[in-house]
Amino acid sequence: MKRSRRTKIIATLGPASDSADMMARLFEAGADTFRLNMSHLDRDRLREKVAAIREVEARYKRPIAILADLQGPKLRVGTFGADSATLKQGSRFVLDSDEAPGDAKRVHLPHPEILGSLEEGHSVLMDDGKLRLEVEEVRQGRAVTRVAVGGRISNRKGVNLPDTEIPVAAMTEKDRSDLEAALDAGVDWIGMSFVQRPEDVAEGRKMARGRALIMTKLEKPQAISRLDDILEASDAVMVARGDLGVEMPLEKVPGLQKRITRAARRLGKPVVIATQMLESMIASPVPTRAEVSDVATAVFEGADAVMLSAESASGKYPLEAVSTMNRIAEEVERDPIYWSIITAQRAAPEATGSDAIAAASHQIADALNLKAVTVWTFSGASALRLARERPNSTVLVLTPKRETARRLALAWGVHAIVTKDASDLDDMAFRAAKFAVREEFAVAGDRIIVVAGVPFGTPGATNMVRIVYVTQEHAAKA
Ligand code: PEP
Repeated sequence: MKRSRRTKIIATLGPASDSADMMARLFEAGADTFRLNMSHLDRDRLREKVAAIREVEARYKRPIAILADLQGPKLRVGTFGADSATLKQGSRFVLDSDEAPGDAKRVHLPHPEILGSLEEGHSVLMDDGKLRLEVEEVRQGRAVTRVAVGGRISNRKGVNLPDTEIPVAAMTEKDRSDLEAALDAGVDWIGMSFVQRPEDVAEGRKMARGRALIMTKLEKPQAISRLDDILEASDAVMVARGDLGVEMPLEKVPGLQKRITRAARRLGKPVVIATQMLESMIASPVPTRAEVSDVATAVFEGADAVMLSAESASGKYPLEAVSTMNRIAEEVERDPIYWSIITAQRAAPEATGSDAIAAASHQIADALNLKAVTVWTFSGASALRLARERPNSTVLVLTPKRETARRLALAWGVHAIVTKDASDLDDMAFRAAKFAVREEFAVAGDRIIVVAGVPFGTPGATNMVRIVYVTQEHAAKA
């Protein structure tokens, strides 16, 4: 099975998509990667879901990436005596360390370190930014605030602090334990939430020890202000527009999305656009025009993947949401304007052998109008450098490492196959052509490109590009 688009689709799993059968149907409809939200999964359920996804993988003989999204230090208020309280604009409201149930005058903020870092003038947002408090004074474990935007607030609603650098790492005890569970279960990507500093990413990477790659969710202004360092430290990034749109003015999000997409493309790191892409499809079988346009914008910009959250996790139309995304991406990629935008945003090769080979392969493929650039890779690094070129031809990845094929399932334009390593140059060329036919990217008489590092098995040693004629013999063996 092959996709007719380069942009990948990530579908979040949840109650609406729990069964193995539904996962298979979502995969068929176009989901390339499944996202598991660790806020709602215990160890056993996680293991079950991973096993079910691996069954789908075996059934369709295609690698699927699994992204385990850690909850991160999500801040919440405590509880209220009457389960909720209504805060009036202009009134005083205190956040304190008293566990007693709150009321319209005060509530417990069960994060003592946060109370210590609030300063006069900082904003405190509650319930997805619906309510806003302004800090007037902080003393003795109490933050006295003025209600700038009032409303009803109920037990344990989320708190966002756009102005405050929070003196906690991006991983809580729960995250550490969830991360270990996710690695044990064999996920491919770890999503890190509320990252503020490159050191936060480094902490996740240190724990993962190469067993999974790190996708940093960009949702804090503090992360945006250190974007380059954070991108450098991450394997991939997600524009997490949900929290980003609470922590920053909403009208800044589209520009940031473009800036992040371009910066990630320049570095050759996968970038995912997430949240509310087809929000109305939670309840409706058809999206709004604006949502279609939003997905299309992400595809036009050359994002690696677009993501569904509640649409596929808890909505009424998970399948329709995936197939709608699939159709939008296919249609955009057929639009001649797509290629002019993709080309305009293409980054120049860096001064490495691997990039020089990637750029040369791309040029050859364009000049000869070839359908596939095949690449033999162990770590997947050279495949990502080829994908960074955003070539018109498919990046057909051949790897002996199943994990590599899985990880690349969210990368733009990549179609990965697991096969034993090539024994010599002839074997490398022969099997590349054979797989190009088997996977329906080429027929006898076509030419393909083969990229590899020789000697085999030396990471980072991409040094060879070869044009290979596809023959009847390749086709017969396919
Ligand atoms: C987001 O905030 O956009 C996001 C993807 O994070 P989550 O859905 O985990 O809150």
